[in-house]
Amino acid sequence: KPIVQLKGVSYFYANSKTKALDNVDLDLYPGEKIAILGANGAGKSTLFRHLNGILKPASGEVLVKGEQISKKNIRTVRQTVGIVFQNPDDQILAPTIEQDVAFGPINMGLDEEEVERRVKKALELVNLSGFEERSPHHLSGGQKKLVAIAGVLAMQPEVVVLDEPTAGLDPQSAENIMKIIDGMNRKFGITVILSTHDVDIVPLFADVVYVMHHGRIEARGTAKEIF
Ligand code: ADP
Ligand code: ADP
Repeated sequence: KPIVQLKGVSYFYANSKTKALDNVDLDLYPGEKIAILGANGAGKSTLFRHLNGILKPASGEVLVKGEQISKKNIRTVRQTVGIVFQNPDDQILAPTIEQDVAFGPINMGLDEEEVERRVKKALELVNLSGFEERSPHHLSGGQKKLVAIAGVLAMQPEVVVLDEPTAGLDPQSAENIMKIIDGMNRKFGITVILSTHDVDIVPLFADVVYVMHHGRIEARGTAKEIF
């Protein structure tokens, strides 16, 4: 059974005449690793913003664990599906790394001890143990990405969505991020969906590849089938 399902989803931004998403069908199965390819403007970010209810489809539906996203379940949905945005500065807000990673768990109403446990574990997973008291704002781009990933992992999501996780990173930082992403899938069975321009990482990473163009899914297959 899919954990997230888009059925015939279309979306257009108020100030735009063209559809940002045009009748998109997508199934995410538990434990799957999915890559979305497509040029700038193809609709990848818009698609991702539908996966946890940041955007509401103009038509079609988004189901998380079989339930359509609604006001009633939006908090649960946001815990189930975590998003790492392309620009970490959009989601890193607190003065210290520890406080930043703690934000989600505190917001979930967890007690102090559990929050601490989760922050510690999340920072271990991204190899940032010892950085607790540092400011997240003076880190390298790659390290900021790791803080954003830790913040999402601290919520213990079932699905992690990453918008261009390796964009703008040097090859070594990109490889490190991909190792961590692969690890969250392997160790915790987290379903991972990411967008990328980096075709080199796709065959190594993805079980399923989607190609988007002008808001549509143009192709779907294994990496072997797509390339
Ligand atoms: P991608 O992530 O593949 O680069 P996006 O989802 O960001 O694509 O964009 C899809 C389309 O929607 C593009 O035509 C883009 O210009 C448009 N778009 C994206 N965000 C907005 C916005 N906030 N307002 C108006 N149009 C937007
Ligand atoms: P309404 O206009 O019916 O009050 P809104 O669009 O203002 O609904 O959203 C209300 C709340 O539901 C917001 O917190 C919003 O984040 C959340 N929400 C997000 N996505 C969806 C969705 N797909 N369906 C329903 N509610 C959603």
